[in-house]
Amino acid sequence: MSAEIIDGKATAKLVRDDVADGVAELVAAGGTAPGLATVLIGDDPASEVYIRNKRRACTAAGMTDLHQHLPGDADQETAAALIDRLAADPAVSGILLQLPVPVHLDPDALLARIPADKDVDGLTTANAGLLAQGRPGLRPCTPSGVMVLFDRHGVELEGAEAVVVGRSVLVGKPMAQLLLERNATVTLCHSRTRDLAEVCRRAEVLVVAAGIPGLIGPDHVRPGGTVIDVGIHREAGGLCGDVDSAVSEVAGRLTPVPGGVGPMTIAMLLANTLTAARRLQGMGER
Ligand code: NAP
Repeated sequence: MSAEIIDGKATAKLVRDDVADGVAELVAAGGTAPGLATVLIGDDPASEVYIRNKRRACTAAGMTDLHQHLPGDADQETAAALIDRLAADPAVSGILLQLPVPVHLDPDALLARIPADKDVDGLTTANAGLLAQGRPGLRPCTPSGVMVLFDRHGVELEGAEAVVVGRSVLVGKPMAQLLLERNATVTLCHSRTRDLAEVCRRAEVLVVAAGIPGLIGPDHVRPGGTVIDVGIHREAGGLCGDVDSAVSEVAGRLTPVPGGVGPMTIAMLLANTLTAARRLQGMGER
């Protein structure tokens, strides 16, 4: 058996097209095009690539690119003042602080200055709290992109055995909460989990975000299960994920790396920015 490949690139395009339609509707209804303020501090080459892709996707969807760049030696006060200015600016619908920031800066203190209704990365404690309580709010882009992959590919979550590997604030924890919100029975694994393979084999839905190339092999996978590989690693042979390619012989459905979860993350950033703009402009939700 060879797993059906879940095409994240194609699904992300559908989401981006929906967002572009939503932006056009907002403007046609008398609103203003959403403005996305990406904030880059320093010149980390990987961050520069991520930011460039986000800015391109933002303008392609008809949004206004309000990118901000501070030099790598900017101090905490300067970075905080920039975020405060963006927070107060009505042209800014969403603020995204690109992480990691240079080591002399405190990222948590900077994130805390982003108002919850402009927090399009869903990383503030306010939005994390809303998610934990199952109340509406802006959700972190990567796990909410995984939820869209499930929905667009007919993956049944209600009552399903779901296992998430990794408990980061960015991916694993919100992923588990989103699955719980949809009535999956969720197990959250981490580096101290005893017998990871045994726990993972229970999963009808397995989401892997551990940051270890090839951590999950065929013996971790329930035959016919759905496997989502969030991991992304640059190796000599190109990009790879946390899931070994041999898993495709056991799983029923599998996301590739590249072309799986990655494109969904940017698409969901756009979706969050549109949601934020609608709310800030009092134009409700679609
Ligand atoms: P992270 O903050 O490093 O968290 C990794 C998690 O994996 C931790 O909770 C850790 O457990 C757990 N872990 C580590 N080794 C393990 C093991 N042997 N068995 C079980 N669990 C283990 O990473 P992250 O930010 O969540 O990112 C994870 C991966 O996803 C990375 O490869 C990252 O590049 C990728 N990523 C991709 C996207 C995308 O758009 N495609 C977005 C975000 C992240 P402890 O808590 O016990 O340490």
